[in-house]
Amino acid sequence: MFAPAIAFVDLETTGATASADRITEVGIVRVDDAVGVSEWSSLVDPERSIPPAIQALTGITNAMVAGAPTFGQIAEQVAERIAGCVFVAHNARFDYGFLKHEFARLGRAFTAKVLCTVRLSRRLYPDAGRHNLDAVIQRHRLAADDRHRALGDARILWSFVQALYRDRPTEEIESAIARILRTPSLPPQLPANALATIPEAPGVYRFYGLNPLPLYIGKSINLRERIASHFSSDYLSANDLRLSAEITRIEIEETAGELGALLRESQLIKTLLPVYNHHLRRRSGMVALALAHEPAPPDYVNSSSIDPAALDGLYGPFASRSKARATLRELAANARLCWSALGLERRNGPCFARQVRRCAGVCVGAESREVHAARLRDALSPYALRRWPYPGMIAVREADITGERSDVHVFRDWCWLGTARDDAALQAIVDVPPRGEFDLDIYRLLVKQLPRLSVIPLTS
Ligand SMILES: [Zn+2]
Repeated sequence: MFAPAIAFVDLETTGATASADRITEVGIVRVDDAVGVSEWSSLVDPERSIPPAIQALTGITNAMVAGAPTFGQIAEQVAERIAGCVFVAHNARFDYGFLKHEFARLGRAFTAKVLCTVRLSRRLYPDAGRHNLDAVIQRHRLAADDRHRALGDARILWSFVQALYRDRPTEEIESAIARILRTPSLPPQLPANALATIPEAPGVYRFYGLNPLPLYIGKSINLRERIASHFSSDYLSANDLRLSAEITRIEIEETAGELGALLRESQLIKTLLPVYNHHLRRRSGMVALALAHEPAPPDYVNSSSIDPAALDGLYGPFASRSKARATLRELAANARLCWSALGLERRNGPCFARQVRRCAGVCVGAESREVHAARLRDALSPYALRRWPYPGMIAVREADITGERSDVHVFRDWCWLGTARDDAALQAIVDVPPRGEFDLDIYRLLVKQLPRLSVIPLTS
C-alpha cells in the first residue's frame, strides 16, 4: 500500500462553501498496515439549520443533529484518527477545505498529505467520461450501502482502492499515486495536464468559468508556479476557493518580462473587469497624497485624477488609503505633527497626539498653520512623486532570459503608450503617440525597474 496508514474521509455538510457552511457528519475509514481497518463516524451539530434540499439529499435532518456533538467536541477524535495518514477523499479539496475551516474556527491548524480519488480515477482511467462517485461505483461494481452518508461514502472509497489493486498492476497504481501526491492539485474539472502545458515564464493568465468573460486575470514572472499557487496552498483564501469551484479553463499570454506582464495585466483588467479582480480591488486601491489646499489636510487621489505633467505636491504611491494613513501617523509621531491637521481625526481642541504630548500644537494655537504645513511638506518629501527624467518619449527594451523574445515598451511622462514587437510597430507608436493614462502601479514599477532596463530616449 502507499503509506503506513490511510484515512478515507467523507463529510456531509450544510452546503458547498467551506468558509460559510458547516459539517453535519464525519465518516473515517482508517486502514493501517499494522493495525488493520477501523471505522468511525459521528453526526455533528452544525449550529445552524440544514437547508431542506440538503436534508433530502443526505437524509441528515435537523432533528438528527439536534443532540449531536459540535465539531469542537469531536475535533480531537477527528485529528487523532487522521494523524499520520494520507488523507483520501473524493474531490478531496472539498473535504480537506471543510476540515481546515472547522479546525481554523477552533484556532487549530490542520494539515495532511492529500490524495484525491477523482484525480486517481482520472489518471488511471483517462478515457472514462465521468469520475464522480456514482460513475466510479458503476464502473467498478462497488457495493454502495448508505450512499450520501459519511461513513457509507468513505467505505466506498476504500473498496474503490481495493478494486484498483485487483484491476491494475500495483506499480501502475503506485506511480499514479506518487505523481498525484507530487503535483499540486488542480480543481478536478480542469484537465489533469493543465499545469504541465503552462510555461515557467513571465506573462498574464486568465481564468474562465462558463462565461466568455474571464473570472480573474493575474500576472507573474513564473506563470506555472503562480497558477498552481491559486489551488495548491494549504489554506485557500475564500476567493481562491470560489475560483476553484468555478474555473473551467485557463488561458495564458507570455511576455518577455515582468514589466510587459504588468502592463498587459493592467490593460486587460481595465477593459474586461473580471469579477474576482473587482472583489480584490488590488489595483484601484493605490493612492497618492496631494497637498493641493495647504494648510488643509492632504487629499487622497487615485491614478485617474493625476495629471502626469503636474506631479508637484503629490506623494506616494501607497498601496491603499489605509497604508497612506498609516504612513501619515508614522510621520506624525516622528515629526510631532498634528492628527487634526493631517485629517487623521476630526475634533475641536487638542488632537489625540497633543493629548499624549506628541503634537507640537497647531490644534491649540501653539504653532502657526503655515509652519505646520511646511513641516508636513518636509516630512513627506522622501515620498514625493518624481518628475519624468527624460525630455520626451523613451523606449524600454525588455528581453526574456533566452534572448529569443523582446518587447519594446514606449513611455512618456510615466504613461505607457504601447508595446511593440518590431520596428514598424515601434515607428507607428512614435509617429502617432496615443494619449497615455497615468497609473500609480506603472509609475511604481518604472521607478523600481528603469535603472535595470535598457532605456532608449526617442526624439520625436
Ligand atoms: Zn494636534
